[in-house]
Amino acid sequence: MRPTSLLHPSLARQIAATIGTPAYVYSQPALEQHAAAALAFPNAFGITVRFAMKALPNAAILRLFHKLNLHFDASSTHEAYRAIRAGIPSAKISISTQELSPDFIELLRMGVLVNACSLAQLAAIGQHFPGLQIGIRLNPGTGSGSTGKTNVGGPDASFGIWHEYLDDAIAIAHHNHLQIIRLHTHIGSGSDPLVWQHAALQSLALVRRIPTIHTLNLGGGYKVARTESEHATDLQNVGTPIKTAIQDFAAQTNRQLHLEIEPGTFLTANSGVILTRIQDITDTGTHGRRFLKLDSGMTELLRPPLYGAQHPVEIVPATPSPTDTSAASTSCTRHPYIIVGHCCESGDLLTCAPGEPDTLAPRELPIAHIGDLCLIGGAGAYCSSMSAKNYNSFPEAPEILVTADNSALLIRRRQTLDQIVENEILPNPPPA
Ligand SMILES: *Cc1c(COP(=O)(O)O)cnc(C)c1O
Repeated sequence: MRPTSLLHPSLARQIAATIGTPAYVYSQPALEQHAAAALAFPNAFGITVRFAMKALPNAAILRLFHKLNLHFDASSTHEAYRAIRAGIPSAKISISTQELSPDFIELLRMGVLVNACSLAQLAAIGQHFPGLQIGIRLNPGTGSGSTGKTNVGGPDASFGIWHEYLDDAIAIAHHNHLQIIRLHTHIGSGSDPLVWQHAALQSLALVRRIPTIHTLNLGGGYKVARTESEHATDLQNVGTPIKTAIQDFAAQTNRQLHLEIEPGTFLTANSGVILTRIQDITDTGTHGRRFLKLDSGMTELLRPPLYGAQHPVEIVPATPSPTDTSAASTSCTRHPYIIVGHCCESGDLLTCAPGEPDTLAPRELPIAHIGDLCLIGGAGAYCSSMSAKNYNSFPEAPEILVTADNSALLIRRRQTLDQIVENEILPNPPPA
């Protein structure tokens, strides 16, 4: 995705002048398009699309997706409260969490749905809510993610109830009069489509063993192409065999399963960019490197230092050239640049090699100048929500939603120094 295809250079300059940099900018038309594509996921007997809100939990985004008829997946009770606070009806929120903190009791009373992700969680839910209809998250035995860090299935992953313990889960549910009506699997982010399909079919086989299950939730993990060399998962391709399998299952068992999917990345990743400014340009001599230093970094975008993730970048000259008033820099002369962030460590590297956070990988870019803007693409998912927030005491960056008529709506202000330190307490009297 070319960042300037989401954020036009003239609007980028306007936002930089009024709201400042760095800033996250999301495109409402792009979010809407991705929501429509997710809702068109192949299904035999109906589908619910849950937005995995950990990808981008801003209230304005949650409300937009609510208006588009999406439901929500919360990965912690805190996320569930955040969604409720944003105005999402509790019945549209489902929790699948590693840590079922005690406030789940209140949430379930409010009507939030839950998928038990361990045998202990299942027992705890049963103690408080005998008779409840619930879901269970199973680890189907297979996992796949773009990196080991985002693979959450198979024997090396702690997520969900191991599939061989299905009978124990059934026994615990029975003991507590819980009725298992949903089966949930999520095997990773950036999953291989074939492995994802295999896991989906494995899940269907597990559904067979629990006659009360009426809903199959296949999680998220659909790949998007942030850069030209990456391959996106086609939802129609990946979903069609599952639809057929669910139809066959219905023919054999007379059970018409409702399907749920839970995309985070797919809905938001290519709907957002980070608008940054080049603060400085330095080099390490004739045989060295040439560095573009941004006013942003791991404080807004942790994915490259964490995963070796690749994000497209485009330089937008500070002032439009007289011959070309709109486009990004079109200068033919290119230069290999290393783009670094503003944090005081070499790990704050944007142009790393794929999957290798510590390896410098120069990008060929038009000649850049101090003061030019730099747009970072593919930044709508797990960027604002997963940053090294406040490192070096940089304030949390604002978020902006650009509507179809190109209005830039501020949906989160820039954090202030007061807000960064507001919870600090000076012991009184001071420690000796
Ligand atoms: C993170 C997560 C998702 C979304 O994953 P993506 O790769 O962003 O689509 C879906 N379901 C659960 C349970 C998750 O934890």
